[in-house]
Amino acid sequence: MTAEIIDGKNIAGELRGRIAEAVAVLARDYEVTPGLAVVLVGEDPASQVYVRNKGLAIKKAGMRSVEHHLPETTSQEAVASLVRELNEDDSVDGILVQMPLPEHIDPMQVINEISPNKDVDGLTEINAGRLMLDEDGLVPCTPQGCILLAKTVTPNLSGLNAVVVGRSILVGKPLSMLLLAENCTVTIAHSRTKNLPELCRSADILCAAVGRPELIKGDWVKDGSVVIDVGINRVFEGDKSRLVGDVEFEMARMRAGAITPVPGGVGPMTIACLLRNTTLAAARRRNLPVIAI
Ligand code: NAD
Repeated sequence: MTAEIIDGKNIAGELRGRIAEAVAVLARDYEVTPGLAVVLVGEDPASQVYVRNKGLAIKKAGMRSVEHHLPETTSQEAVASLVRELNEDDSVDGILVQMPLPEHIDPMQVINEISPNKDVDGLTEINAGRLMLDEDGLVPCTPQGCILLAKTVTPNLSGLNAVVVGRSILVGKPLSMLLLAENCTVTIAHSRTKNLPELCRSADILCAAVGRPELIKGDWVKDGSVVIDVGINRVFEGDKSRLVGDVEFEMARMRAGAITPVPGGVGPMTIACLLRNTTLAAARRRNLPVIAI
Protein backbone atom coordinates (compact mmCIF):
# COMPACT_ATOMS: atom_id res chain seq x y z
CA MET A 1 0.00 0.00 0.00
CA THR A 2 1.28 3.48 -0.83
CA ALA A 3 -0.04 6.45 1.08
CA GLU A 4 -2.06 9.27 -0.38
CA ILE A 5 0.14 12.35 -0.35
CA ILE A 6 -1.59 15.24 1.42
CA ASP A 7 -0.72 18.13 -0.89
CA GLY A 8 -0.35 21.03 1.54
CA LYS A 9 0.63 23.45 -1.19
CA ASN A 10 -2.55 22.82 -3.13
CA ILE A 11 -4.79 22.73 -0.04
CA ALA A 12 -3.24 25.98 1.24
CA GLY A 13 -3.82 27.53 -2.21
CA GLU A 14 -7.52 26.63 -2.01
CA LEU A 15 -7.74 28.04 1.51
CA ARG A 16 -6.09 31.26 0.38
CA GLY A 17 -8.66 31.50 -2.42
CA ARG A 18 -11.52 31.21 0.13
CA ILE A 19 -9.83 33.82 2.34
CA ALA A 20 -9.51 36.24 -0.60
CA GLU A 21 -13.27 35.79 -1.23
CA ALA A 22 -14.06 36.50 2.45
CA VAL A 23 -11.81 39.58 2.35
CA ALA A 24 -13.61 40.81 -0.78
CA VAL A 25 -16.98 40.38 0.98
CA LEU A 26 -15.74 42.32 4.04
CA ALA A 27 -14.60 45.15 1.74
CA ARG A 28 -17.78 45.17 -0.37
CA ASP A 29 -20.38 44.84 2.40
CA TYR A 30 -18.67 46.55 5.36
CA GLU A 31 -15.83 48.64 3.89
CA VAL A 32 -13.38 46.71 6.06
CA THR A 33 -9.91 45.74 4.82
CA PRO A 34 -8.18 43.48 7.34
CA GLY A 35 -4.72 44.71 8.31
CA LEU A 36 -1.74 42.83 9.74
CA ALA A 37 1.12 44.56 11.54
CA VAL A 38 4.36 42.62 11.78
CA VAL A 39 7.05 43.66 14.25
CA LEU A 40 10.60 42.58 13.46
CA VAL A 41 13.44 43.35 15.85
CA GLY A 42 17.02 42.96 14.62
CA GLU A 43 18.62 41.69 11.44
CA ASP A 44 18.12 37.90 11.51
CA PRO A 45 18.19 37.01 7.76
CA ALA A 46 15.73 34.11 8.03
CA SER A 47 13.27 36.29 9.97
CA GLN A 48 13.53 38.99 7.30
CA VAL A 49 12.59 36.44 4.62
CA TYR A 50 9.64 35.14 6.71
CA VAL A 51 8.37 38.67 7.33
CA ARG A 52 8.64 39.58 3.65
CA ASN A 53 6.80 36.41 2.60
CA LYS A 54 4.02 37.02 5.13
CA GLY A 55 3.62 40.60 3.88
CA LEU A 56 3.40 39.46 0.25
CA ALA A 57 0.82 36.75 1.08
CA ILE A 58 -1.28 39.24 3.05
CA LYS A 59 -1.31 41.72 0.16
CA LYS A 60 -2.08 38.99 -2.37
CA ALA A 61 -5.20 38.11 -0.35
CA GLY A 62 -6.38 41.74 -0.59
CA MET A 63 -5.40 42.74 2.95
CA ARG A 64 -3.11 45.47 4.26
CA SER A 65 0.32 44.69 5.63
CA VAL A 66 2.45 47.05 7.73
CA GLU A 67 5.97 46.19 8.80
CA HIS A 68 7.75 47.74 11.79
CA HIS A 69 11.45 47.00 11.63
CA LEU A 70 13.25 47.96 14.84
CA PRO A 71 17.01 47.87 15.48
CA GLU A 72 18.61 44.95 17.37
CA THR A 73 19.32 47.22 20.36
CA THR A 74 15.66 48.23 20.90
CA SER A 75 14.66 47.93 24.56
CA GLN A 76 11.98 45.57 25.80
CA GLU A 77 9.86 48.58 26.85
CA ALA A 78 10.15 50.16 23.40
CA VAL A 79 8.91 46.95 21.70
CA ALA A 80 6.10 46.64 24.26
CA SER A 81 5.17 50.27 23.73
CA LEU A 82 4.92 49.75 19.93
CA VAL A 83 2.68 46.72 20.52
CA ARG A 84 0.43 48.83 22.78
CA GLU A 85 0.18 51.49 20.05
CA LEU A 86 -0.82 48.82 17.53
CA ASN A 87 -3.45 47.52 19.98
CA GLU A 88 -5.04 50.99 19.90
CA ASP A 89 -4.78 51.40 16.10
CA ASP A 90 -8.17 50.62 14.62
CA SER A 91 -6.69 49.91 11.16
CA VAL A 92 -4.72 46.99 12.63
CA ASP A 93 -6.58 43.69 13.08
CA GLY A 94 -3.66 41.36 13.64
CA ILE A 95 -0.32 41.85 15.38
CA LEU A 96 2.56 39.45 14.95
CA VAL A 97 5.91 39.76 16.68
CA GLN A 98 8.45 37.79 14.67
CA MET A 99 10.49 35.31 16.71
CA PRO A 100 13.25 34.95 17.73
CA LEU A 101 13.64 38.28 19.55
CA PRO A 102 17.12 39.48 20.57
CA GLU A 103 18.33 37.84 23.79
CA HIS A 104 17.76 40.88 26.03
CA ILE A 105 14.00 40.76 25.31
CA ASP A 106 11.64 38.37 27.10
CA PRO A 107 9.42 36.98 24.31
CA MET A 108 6.45 36.02 26.50
CA GLN A 109 6.29 39.48 28.08
CA VAL A 110 6.11 41.06 24.63
CA ILE A 111 3.59 38.52 23.34
CA ASN A 112 1.32 39.10 26.33
CA GLU A 113 1.19 42.82 25.49
CA ILE A 114 -0.72 41.92 22.30
CA SER A 115 -4.47 42.42 22.59
CA PRO A 116 -5.86 38.83 22.60
CA ASN A 117 -8.33 39.77 19.87
CA LYS A 118 -5.45 40.82 17.58
CA ASP A 119 -3.17 37.92 18.57
CA VAL A 120 -3.12 36.19 15.17
CA ASP A 121 -0.32 33.83 16.28
CA GLY A 122 -2.57 32.65 19.12
CA LEU A 123 0.30 32.72 21.59
CA THR A 124 -0.92 35.04 24.37
CA GLU A 125 -1.81 33.50 27.71
CA ILE A 126 -5.43 34.49 27.10
CA ASN A 127 -5.66 32.60 23.79
CA ALA A 128 -3.75 29.61 25.19
CA GLY A 129 -6.29 29.60 28.05
CA ARG A 130 -9.22 29.89 25.67
CA LEU A 131 -7.93 26.84 23.79
CA MET A 132 -7.69 24.87 27.06
CA LEU A 133 -11.21 25.94 28.02
CA ASP A 134 -12.84 25.13 24.64
CA GLU A 135 -13.65 28.81 24.16
CA ASP A 136 -13.50 30.67 20.85
CA GLY A 137 -10.17 32.39 20.35
CA LEU A 138 -7.32 32.76 17.90
CA VAL A 139 -5.47 29.46 17.51
CA PRO A 140 -1.76 29.07 16.63
CA CYS A 141 -1.33 28.81 12.86
CA THR A 142 0.80 25.67 12.42
CA PRO A 143 -1.36 23.40 14.64
CA GLN A 144 -4.50 24.75 12.96
CA GLY A 145 -2.95 23.91 9.59
CA CYS A 146 -2.26 20.34 10.77
CA ILE A 147 -5.91 19.83 11.73
CA LEU A 148 -7.16 21.21 8.41
CA LEU A 149 -4.78 18.89 6.52
CA ALA A 150 -5.78 15.80 8.54
CA LYS A 151 -9.46 16.58 7.92
CA THR A 152 -8.98 16.63 4.16
CA VAL A 153 -8.41 12.85 4.33
CA THR A 154 -10.37 12.02 7.52
CA PRO A 155 -13.16 14.56 7.98
CA ASN A 156 -14.30 12.99 11.26
CA LEU A 157 -11.41 12.50 13.69
CA SER A 158 -13.67 11.53 16.60
CA GLY A 159 -12.52 8.52 18.62
CA LEU A 160 -9.21 8.11 16.79
CA ASN A 161 -5.95 7.59 18.68
CA ALA A 162 -3.71 10.59 18.06
CA VAL A 163 -0.06 10.65 19.07
CA VAL A 164 1.69 14.04 19.02
CA VAL A 165 5.47 13.82 19.26
CA GLY A 166 6.73 17.14 20.66
CA ARG A 167 5.31 19.34 23.42
CA SER A 168 6.35 22.86 22.41
CA ILE A 169 4.16 25.84 23.18
CA LEU A 170 4.17 26.74 19.48
CA VAL A 171 3.16 23.37 18.01
CA GLY A 172 2.93 20.22 20.15
CA LYS A 173 0.77 21.46 23.02
CA PRO A 174 -1.78 23.48 21.03
CA LEU A 175 -2.01 20.71 18.41
CA SER A 176 -2.79 18.22 21.19
CA MET A 177 -5.58 20.50 22.47
CA LEU A 178 -7.04 20.88 18.97
CA LEU A 179 -7.03 17.10 18.46
CA LEU A 180 -8.74 16.70 21.83
CA ALA A 181 -11.37 19.22 20.72
CA GLU A 182 -11.93 16.94 17.70
CA ASN A 183 -12.61 14.11 20.20
CA CYS A 184 -9.40 12.21 19.53
CA THR A 185 -7.78 10.22 22.32
CA VAL A 186 -4.52 12.13 22.54
CA THR A 187 -1.11 11.03 23.78
CA ILE A 188 1.69 13.61 23.94
CA ALA A 189 5.19 12.20 23.53
CA HIS A 190 8.46 14.08 24.13
CA SER A 191 12.18 13.63 24.62
CA ARG A 192 11.68 11.64 27.88
CA THR A 193 8.98 9.33 26.51
CA LYS A 194 9.72 5.62 26.86
CA ASN A 195 8.90 3.20 24.04
CA LEU A 196 8.32 5.88 21.43
CA PRO A 197 8.24 3.36 18.54
CA GLU A 198 5.50 1.33 20.23
CA LEU A 199 3.49 4.43 21.06
CA CYS A 200 3.72 5.69 17.47
CA ARG A 201 2.51 2.29 16.22
CA SER A 202 -0.73 2.83 18.20
CA ALA A 203 -1.50 6.08 16.37
CA ASP A 204 -4.35 6.42 13.89
CA ILE A 205 -3.08 10.00 13.52
CA LEU A 206 0.63 10.51 14.06
CA CYS A 207 1.86 14.10 14.29
CA ALA A 208 5.59 14.76 14.47
CA ALA A 209 6.79 18.17 15.72
CA VAL A 210 10.27 17.50 16.99
CA GLY A 211 12.88 19.06 14.72
CA ARG A 212 15.03 15.89 14.33
CA PRO A 213 15.54 14.67 10.76
CA GLU A 214 13.68 11.39 10.14
CA LEU A 215 13.49 10.52 13.85
CA ILE A 216 10.21 8.67 13.26
CA LYS A 217 11.04 5.49 11.35
CA GLY A 218 8.82 4.02 8.67
CA ASP A 219 8.11 0.88 10.69
CA TRP A 220 6.80 2.99 13.61
CA VAL A 221 3.86 3.96 11.41
CA LYS A 222 0.58 2.07 11.78
CA ASP A 223 -0.88 0.62 8.58
CA GLY A 224 -3.44 2.98 7.07
CA SER A 225 -2.79 5.83 9.54
CA VAL A 226 -2.63 9.57 8.82
CA VAL A 227 0.86 11.05 9.29
CA ILE A 228 1.30 14.81 9.71
CA ASP A 229 4.95 15.83 9.62
CA VAL A 230 5.57 19.32 11.00
CA GLY A 231 9.36 19.06 11.14
CA ILE A 232 11.52 21.11 8.81
CA ASN A 233 15.15 20.01 8.94
CA ARG A 234 17.97 20.88 6.58
CA VAL A 235 20.36 17.97 6.02
CA PHE A 236 23.69 18.26 4.23
CA GLU A 237 25.13 15.70 1.84
CA GLY A 238 28.52 16.86 0.61
CA ASP A 239 28.10 20.40 -0.67
CA LYS A 240 24.36 19.93 -1.29
CA SER A 241 21.52 20.25 1.18
CA ARG A 242 17.82 19.37 1.22
CA LEU A 243 14.86 19.67 3.56
CA VAL A 244 13.48 16.61 5.33
CA GLY A 245 10.79 16.15 7.92
CA ASP A 246 10.78 14.38 11.27
CA VAL A 247 9.40 11.25 9.59
CA GLU A 248 11.30 8.81 7.37
CA PHE A 249 9.04 9.67 4.45
CA GLU A 250 9.88 7.03 1.83
CA MET A 251 9.44 4.15 4.29
CA ALA A 252 6.46 5.68 6.11
CA ARG A 253 4.51 6.18 2.89
CA MET A 254 4.58 2.39 2.32
CA ARG A 255 2.49 1.92 5.48
CA ALA A 256 0.48 5.11 6.07
CA GLY A 257 -2.92 5.74 4.52
CA ALA A 258 -2.05 9.40 4.00
CA ILE A 259 1.03 11.49 4.72
CA THR A 260 2.22 15.08 4.39
CA PRO A 261 5.48 15.64 2.49
CA VAL A 262 8.29 17.99 3.54
CA PRO A 263 8.48 20.46 1.94
CA GLY A 264 4.96 21.09 0.61
CA GLY A 265 2.91 19.75 3.54
CA VAL A 266 2.35 21.66 6.76
CA GLY A 267 4.63 24.59 5.82
CA PRO A 268 2.32 26.26 3.26
CA MET A 269 -0.64 25.89 5.64
CA THR A 270 1.04 28.01 8.33
CA ILE A 271 0.95 31.22 6.28
CA ALA A 272 -2.55 30.42 4.98
CA CYS A 273 -3.75 30.06 8.59
CA LEU A 274 -2.15 33.41 9.46
CA LEU A 275 -4.25 35.00 6.69
CA ARG A 276 -7.28 33.14 8.03
CA ASN A 277 -6.71 34.40 11.59
CA THR A 278 -6.24 37.98 10.39
CA THR A 279 -9.54 37.81 8.49
CA LEU A 280 -11.34 36.22 11.45
CA ALA A 281 -9.87 38.83 13.83
CA ALA A 282 -11.05 41.68 11.57
CA ALA A 283 -14.60 40.30 11.46
CA ARG A 284 -14.87 39.28 15.12
CA ARG A 285 -13.55 42.61 16.44
CA ARG A 286 -16.45 44.31 14.68
CA ASN A 287 -19.02 41.57 15.31
CA LEU A 288 -19.38 41.00 11.56
CA PRO A 289 -20.39 37.68 10.05
CA VAL A 290 -17.65 36.14 7.93
CA ILE A 291 -18.21 33.52 5.25
CA ALA A 292 -16.95 30.08 6.31
CA ILE A 293 -13.21 29.76 5.79
P1 NAD B 1 10.87 22.69 19.84
O1 NAD B 1 12.33 22.47 19.76
O2 NAD B 1 10.33 23.85 20.59
O3 NAD B 1 10.20 21.38 20.45
C1 NAD B 1 10.61 20.10 20.08
C2 NAD B 1 9.90 19.07 20.91
O4 NAD B 1 10.35 17.79 20.51
C3 NAD B 1 10.14 19.18 22.40
O5 NAD B 1 8.90 19.21 23.06
C4 NAD B 1 10.91 17.92 22.77
O6 NAD B 1 10.48 17.35 24.00
C5 NAD B 1 10.58 16.99 21.64
N1 NAD B 1 11.70 16.08 21.37
C6 NAD B 1 13.00 16.40 21.19
N2 NAD B 1 13.73 15.29 20.97
C7 NAD B 1 12.89 14.26 21.01
C8 NAD B 1 13.04 12.86 20.85
N3 NAD B 1 14.23 12.34 20.60
N4 NAD B 1 11.95 12.10 20.96
C9 NAD B 1 10.75 12.62 21.19
N5 NAD B 1 10.52 13.95 21.34
C10 NAD B 1 11.59 14.75 21.25
O7 NAD B 1 10.37 22.69 18.33
P2 NAD B 1 9.02 23.27 17.63
O8 NAD B 1 9.05 24.75 17.60
O9 NAD B 1 7.83 22.57 18.19
O10 NAD B 1 9.26 22.77 16.13
C11 NAD B 1 9.36 21.39 15.83
C12 NAD B 1 9.68 21.23 14.35
O11 NAD B 1 8.62 21.79 13.60
C13 NAD B 1 10.95 21.96 13.88
O12 NAD B 1 11.55 21.18 12.87
C14 NAD B 1 10.42 23.24 13.30
O13 NAD B 1 11.27 23.77 12.31
C15 NAD B 1 9.13 22.76 12.71
N6 NAD B 1 8.13 23.82 12.56
C16 NAD B 1 7.52 23.89 11.36
C17 NAD B 1 6.54 24.85 11.15
C18 NAD B 1 5.86 24.91 9.82
O14 NAD B 1 5.31 25.92 9.45
N7 NAD B 1 5.84 23.80 9.08
C19 NAD B 1 6.18 25.74 12.17
C20 NAD B 1 6.80 25.61 13.41
C21 NAD B 1 7.77 24.63 13.60
